[in-house]
Amino acid sequence: MRGVNKHFGDLHVLQDIELTVGRGEVVVVIGPSGSGKSTLCRAINRLEPIENGTILIDGQPLPEEGKGLARLRAEVGMVFQSFNLFAHKTVLQNVSLAQIKVRGRPRAEADDKSRALLERVGLADQAAKYPAQLSGGQQQRVAIARALAMDPKALLFDEPTSALDPEMINEVLDVMRQLASEGMTMIVVTHEMGFARASANRVVFMADGRIVEDRAPEDFFSAPESDRARDFLSKIL
Ligand code: ATP
Ligand code: MG
Repeated sequence: MRGVNKHFGDLHVLQDIELTVGRGEVVVVIGPSGSGKSTLCRAINRLEPIENGTILIDGQPLPEEGKGLARLRAEVGMVFQSFNLFAHKTVLQNVSLAQIKVRGRPRAEADDKSRALLERVGLADQAAKYPAQLSGGQQQRVAIARALAMDPKALLFDEPTSALDPEMINEVLDVMRQLASEGMTMIVVTHEMGFARASANRVVFMADGRIVEDRAPEDFFSAPESDRARDFLSKIL
């Protein structure tokens, strides 16, 4: 992201954002509520239009619309707080659907890949169920499998564990930790500071639409440079 700006009315929600995420890097984004973390994630996928600046993925500018945009959204998968599974489709269908529609894979091939991914997130035996028959942690792991099914270049996570009961948080973080260790490029908005310490290459701290700090986790947590970050950490740690 180069010089990215965005307003919601009078609110300058993204201010001169400069952010580069290297291949295989895990960047955790933290900051107070309303600081622009979700908007930043959504801008990367063009779920939110930006006013100026550029966003490049693998050196290519974001496509404006049409097929290019569908492909982009496939290449940069997004996992939301609220899972966003299709309620009237089975777990297997949820993971296969975009493979068939966007990637043009034959159904049998898509289903094979889906089964392998469900196995990887520990849900091999849940393929025929509907989302409402699963726990929140299981639903979120389906959402991760669905994003992985597109062979994404990167994954965006926006508070993927915030809607979960405490006992389910770890089963989702385990999958994320595994992906991080396998070299997946990830941008993760989260309040899970244990994940940030153990799995992030960098912590980006946002406040009022700006990136205030962008540092290695050990440096950030032991000696935050800004008053805003010190204040934030004193409230959550
Ligand atoms: P949280 O930690 O609560 O999820 P956040 O850092 O993700 O916060 P954003 O959701 O990016 O924050 O929102 C940043 C600011 O932009 C907030 O003040 C929010 O109210 C505002 N905002 C977000 N989406 C819209 C919208 N569609 N229209 C108007 N204002 C919006
Ligand atoms: Mg948010």
